[in-house]
Amino acid sequence: MSVKTMSVPFADLRAQYLSIKEEMDAAIADVIDNTAFIRTPIITEFEHGFAEMMSAKHCIGVANGTDAIYIVLKMLGIGQGDEVITVANSWISSSEVITQAGAKPVFADIEPGYFTIDPADIERKITPATKAIIPVHLTGHPAQIDQIMEIAERHGLFVIEDCAQSHFATLNGQLAGTFGVASTFSFYPGKNLGAYGDAGGILTNDDALAEKCRMYANHGALIKHQHHMEGINSRLDGLQAAVLKVKLGHILKWTEQRQFWAKAYATALEGIEEIELPAVRPGAEHVYHLYMIRAQDRDGLQTFLDARGIQTVIHYPTPLPFLPAYSYLGHSREDFPVAAAYQDAILSLPFFPEMNQEMIDYVAESIRTYYR
Ligand SMILES: *Cc1c(COP(=O)(O)O)cnc(C)c1O
Repeated sequence: MSVKTMSVPFADLRAQYLSIKEEMDAAIADVIDNTAFIRTPIITEFEHGFAEMMSAKHCIGVANGTDAIYIVLKMLGIGQGDEVITVANSWISSSEVITQAGAKPVFADIEPGYFTIDPADIERKITPATKAIIPVHLTGHPAQIDQIMEIAERHGLFVIEDCAQSHFATLNGQLAGTFGVASTFSFYPGKNLGAYGDAGGILTNDDALAEKCRMYANHGALIKHQHHMEGINSRLDGLQAAVLKVKLGHILKWTEQRQFWAKAYATALEGIEEIELPAVRPGAEHVYHLYMIRAQDRDGLQTFLDARGIQTVIHYPTPLPFLPAYSYLGHSREDFPVAAAYQDAILSLPFFPEMNQEMIDYVAESIRTYYR
């Protein structure tokens, strides 16, 4: 019989807010005081700050991480008749934007051991219609982006890195998000760098692409009423920029705390044969947006943990090609054997910078108890 002795939330955004409350309240009050809501200097300040920390030339703040990918695809001229390759296990943003741009999403399987796109399967999926690859640095662990860039260069393809979960992750000392022609970020509240509402960003070193993206996200205009094209309304607003700017001052410390708790989990969970801990690719620095394990009898474990007050989440319960939204592609489990095999095993444990050793020990002890 399991007894709930402690409550461990999956994440705790309130704990983070309380740790910076004074600074945050002042920054938000300042925006309201100045009614600096849309197209105000605080947005440029955040964009410059983030671009500098990410070693990128341009940052374009947009309304969310989904729009960020869509805008880049459109401004690269990808559309009707084109194919774009992305990964079978991701959030649907990575693929739905391909369809929205008018192109066809083509899925590649994940690599065994990691949760990121398999470069060998990318090669198999390339056709004369392929124009771009969207790798996702899922969970905060870098995809094999050096190999992906080599494949893209050989075939003349664009690479757009979906960095929604990977702020400040690196591979061989280079920041994820600085390899491709552009990278896209989500600042959704629960992401490693999260706003207090929807927000997103695009990074690129390409001056012309940056200008086009900025224009497209603002009704096709850089200057009010000078519309060089039709665009959309997808802007980062002043309140979210102010929140993000405050958090930029803390993000590296929070990232270190994530890495610290990941180590603590690894120690506490050592020797449990029924689970696999998240692997880290040689040369990679993982920023642990998620602490995702693979577990035998995953559903049973999840129910058991839930009864003990431990909240877990599955990222994601159904690989994208198996969703009803993509039934028209006619895929079966054999098409994506690794994603299909991991589907029933993956489980994301409670994870956030403000957690403590007591929570880690309680989660680990509960998992041990379940398998005993
Ligand atoms: C969160 C997320 C997005 C989308 O970001 P939004 O800001 O919610 O639109 C895209 N891709 C991945 C992998 C994500 O996790």
